[in-house]
Amino acid sequence: MKIVIIGAGPAAVSAVEAYRQAGGSGEILMLSAEPSLPYSPPAMADHFLTGADLHLWRGRHWLGEQEVEYHPNTRVTALDVEAHRLAIEGQPDLHYDRLLLASGGRLHAPVAGADMPGVYNFKSLKAAEALVARVRSGEARRAIVVGAGFIGMEIALLLRELGVEVIQLEMLEQVMAGMLDADTAAIVLQQMQKRGVDVRLKTRVAAFTGNGQASGVQLDSGETLQAELLIAATGIQPNLDYLAGSGVTHAWGVPVDEHMRTNLSDVYAAGDVAETHDLLTGERYVHAIFPNAVAQGRVAGFNLAGLDVTYPGAERFNSLKHLGISVVAAGLKQGDEVLQERRGANLRTLYLQEDRLVGFQLVGDTRAAGSLHALMVKGSSVKAIKGRLLEAGFGTGVLAWQAMEAMV
Ligand SMILES: Cc1cc2nc3c(=O)[nH]c(=O)nc-3n(C[C@H](O)[C@H](O)[C@H](O)COP(=O)(O)OP(=O)(O)OC[C@H]3O[C@@H](n4cnc5c(N)ncnc54)[C@H](O)[C@@H]3O)c2cc1C
Repeated sequence: MKIVIIGAGPAAVSAVEAYRQAGGSGEILMLSAEPSLPYSPPAMADHFLTGADLHLWRGRHWLGEQEVEYHPNTRVTALDVEAHRLAIEGQPDLHYDRLLLASGGRLHAPVAGADMPGVYNFKSLKAAEALVARVRSGEARRAIVVGAGFIGMEIALLLRELGVEVIQLEMLEQVMAGMLDADTAAIVLQQMQKRGVDVRLKTRVAAFTGNGQASGVQLDSGETLQAELLIAATGIQPNLDYLAGSGVTHAWGVPVDEHMRTNLSDVYAAGDVAETHDLLTGERYVHAIFPNAVAQGRVAGFNLAGLDVTYPGAERFNSLKHLGISVVAAGLKQGDEVLQERRGANLRTLYLQEDRLVGFQLVGDTRAAGSLHALMVKGSSVKAIKGRLLEAGFGTGVLAWQAMEAMV
């Protein structure tokens, strides 16, 4: 059996571990378009700040222990599903028996001029290294970050830590609109401002501008802004170019069934390429976060090894580090009932639908996250303990257990 995995991110890594754990034998080839060893993208900011070794995520001997043949600098360009062959840029074709698509995502920048030299991003280690090298060259004193989604926030904060002046432009009315409700976003915005980031909301960038080399942006308003460092943090899109004409069904992502199988029985997909269903709503989409990639990779790995394991569904979950205040957001940010409690710098907002917890947002004291998450995923009625969900001690120690006991 020869398993080939396109990608070396968290989905690929967890698939390998699950495959071996389930007793899967034979060869595993892991291909990465990037030059580096497998790494964890969420650890990149810390890596640049502290010098922490990104590749030690799973330990130095991981590839050997898992008996993985790793091929960096190996970009898949096409897939022939009849012949079970992959075309590789500048290298001979590769044969597979079973295939896992775990090629993640890349920058999605629907802004004119975004492909111009001098527009940086933080979507891969190589891209991030180029960005940080520019900062460390001392030539970039001022940066413009386009986008205030999750990755845009990370970049803006990292750049402030590196001593760069930052203007952050966001077309929507709040930061992290995909994840945070308006109240939580307002606190996050204040924290960003305290950290010296000049966040400008309702400010749409029409184009990156420059003469062969990006040197500024033009806003919808007609105004132009100049900076030595221009960064696009406008979203991500799945890396699926190599699937064109292959017969693997794909649109924005690759739809998979509950076994993480594509429309072909020997081709699986997991992580930021996979279109799965939402645990709470059943809605199908690509929800590109680390825990989903790991859970999906795991399910794919088990099934590749011959087990019968199903994926319960993707979660919406995010937390912000590097902000100076903890923020955790999970699930939906709407419901038929909203419970909210503000205590000093702490804010807890809970979203209920027909007495079930369907989402929560915590700022400051985030210790209740584990218990709230358990209640949300369990999906049963919280009617009996509703009054306690906002108590300061809920989710910590005894109160967490009492609440959980009341549920079963
Ligand atoms: C800066 C940053 C911070 C983040 N922080 C968080 C966080 O705090 N919390 C969180 O939940 N999520 C976070 N994420 C998102 C999280 O990292 C992703 O959801 C996760 O990495 C997806 O894993 P993946 O394995 O699907 O893909 P990726 O990690 O994107 O890996 C894709 C792999 O595929 C390879 N590849 C791509 N195309 C080809 C090809 N044609 N041929 C061969 N190989 C190919 C790439 O080289 C790479 O090895 C962050 C992402 C970034 C960029």
